[in-house]
Amino acid sequence: MLRPAHLSRPAPAKYKAYTRDDIESLPQLRHLSAETRLDMRAVASVLPFRVNDYVLEHLIDWDRVPEDPMFQLTFPQPGMLPEADMAALRDLLIKDAAQPEITALARQIQQRLNPHPAGQMEMNVPYLDGRPLPGMQHKYRDTVLFFPSPGQTCHTYCSYCFRWPQFVGLDDLKFASRQAESLTAYLRAHPEVSNVLLTGGDPLIMRTSVLRRYIEPLLSPELEHISVIRIGTKSTAWWPWRFLTDPDADDLLRLFEEVRTAGRHLALMAHSSHPVELSTAPAQSALRRIQSTGAVVRCQAPLIRHVNDDADTWADLWRAQVRLGAVPYYMFVERDTGPKGYFEVPLVRCFDIFQTAYRRVSGLERTVRGPSMSATPGKVIVDGISEVAGEKVINLRFIQAREPTWVRRPFYARYDENATWLDQLRPAFGEAEFFFEPMLREMKEAHLEPAYGHRNVPRRKMAIFGHVEWE
Ligand SMILES: *Cc1c(COP(=O)(O)O)cnc(C)c1O
Repeated sequence: MLRPAHLSRPAPAKYKAYTRDDIESLPQLRHLSAETRLDMRAVASVLPFRVNDYVLEHLIDWDRVPEDPMFQLTFPQPGMLPEADMAALRDLLIKDAAQPEITALARQIQQRLNPHPAGQMEMNVPYLDGRPLPGMQHKYRDTVLFFPSPGQTCHTYCSYCFRWPQFVGLDDLKFASRQAESLTAYLRAHPEVSNVLLTGGDPLIMRTSVLRRYIEPLLSPELEHISVIRIGTKSTAWWPWRFLTDPDADDLLRLFEEVRTAGRHLALMAHSSHPVELSTAPAQSALRRIQSTGAVVRCQAPLIRHVNDDADTWADLWRAQVRLGAVPYYMFVERDTGPKGYFEVPLVRCFDIFQTAYRRVSGLERTVRGPSMSATPGKVIVDGISEVAGEKVINLRFIQAREPTWVRRPFYARYDENATWLDQLRPAFGEAEFFFEPMLREMKEAHLEPAYGHRNVPRRKMAIFGHVEWE
C-alpha cells in the first residue's frame, strides 16, 4: 500500500456538505444574480443538491460558470424544471412560505418526474422463502445488487441523478437493507451468482468499519461462488480524500486487500463523467492507492447534455482513465426520470458521439461499451445506424438481459432522430413489436420472480411497497 511522498504528512480535509440552505451564503455564488440563486433554491426544493469543498475548490472552474461542466453536474440549473413549476416555487420562496407548504408543492412536482423507471421495484426485487428482500435487486443472472442502508447518500449529488427519489425522501429508503444476513442467505441459495455489486447512493460514504460488515461475510468459504465484489462509487471524483486522508482511509485499503487475499476480485466501479475529475493530484493519488491493493478501477458514466455531450470529452476521458490504469467500462444513456428534459441527448446523437470518440482512441480504451440504456428488459446498446432493405434503421443489441438468451441478439428500430429512450422507438420492417416484448409481458403479467431461475414460482404482489405499478 503506497502512500505518495507528498501526502505523507497531509493536513486532513474535513468533509462538510453544503445544501439548499447554503446557496445564499456560499462565497462562490455571490457574483451570480439574486434571480439565479432564487432559481437554484427553487430547483433544490424539488431535486437533491449537495456539494463539498473539494468539488468547489478543485473541480469547478468558476470563471466558466454557468457553462462549466462540473458546475452543471453539481449545481441546480433553472432549466431542470418546467417553467410553470419554477414560477410556482419562486412565488413560495419569495413570500417566505413555510417549509411544509414548499414540500407539498415539491411532492406534486416530483410525482410528475417519473420517479420509478425501468420497473425496478416491480421486477427486480428477489425473494427468499416467499418473502421479498428489499435492498436487493437481481435482474441479471450473474450479478446481485445490494443497497446497504447506511450507504444511501453521496459526498456530492449529481444534478441529473437517476436515484434522486431516495435523496429527497420520496422512497423512504425502501430500497435499502441494513442486513448483511439476508444478502448472504440469498447468495447461499443462488450458486449461479458470481458478482455482488454494493451500490447506493455511494457505499463509500460508510465508515470502513460499517462497510466491513457487508463485505467480510461475502469472503467466507461457503460463498466461494462469489468471485467478484463490486463497489459503485463516485468518491474518486467527489471526495478522493476517502482513500488518502480520511481517518479510516488506510483501513479501507486494507479491506480491499483482504478481498484479494480471500481469492476474490474487487472491482471499484467508478462513476467517471469528465476528464477534469481525473486531473487533480488527490484523484490521481487515490487511484494509485486503490490499485496498490490489487483492486481494479472500472469507469462508467452517462452521456449528459451540458456536461459531457461531445466526442472530444469522451475520447479524453477514456484516455485519461487508461493512462491512470483504470478501465473504460460503460457509457450510459441518461435515464428517463427526474430532470431528463434538461440533460437528455437523442439516441442517434449518443451513438454519433460514442462512435466518433471510439474511432479516436486505441484498442485499450475500446473496452468501453455503449451507448447503453438500462431499460426494463435489459441493457440495450445503440449499435449502429444502417439501411436495410431500403429502410433506415437503428441497430440495437442487448449487452445484458433479464432473459440470458436475449444477450447479443441484434434487433432493429425505425430510424428516429428525436427518440431518447427505448420505449420511444418502434420496430423496423413494419413489425408490431420487438422480439422480446411478448416474453417481457409474460414476466410482468404472471408476476414472475425477478431475474431468471424462478420462473415456476408465482410472485405475489409486493405489499411491502404499498403499490404495484407496472411501467
Ligand atoms: C448494469 C447492471 C448490472 C451489472 O451488469 P454488468 O453488465 O455485469 O456490468 C447488474 N444489475 C443491474 C440491475 C444493472 O443495471
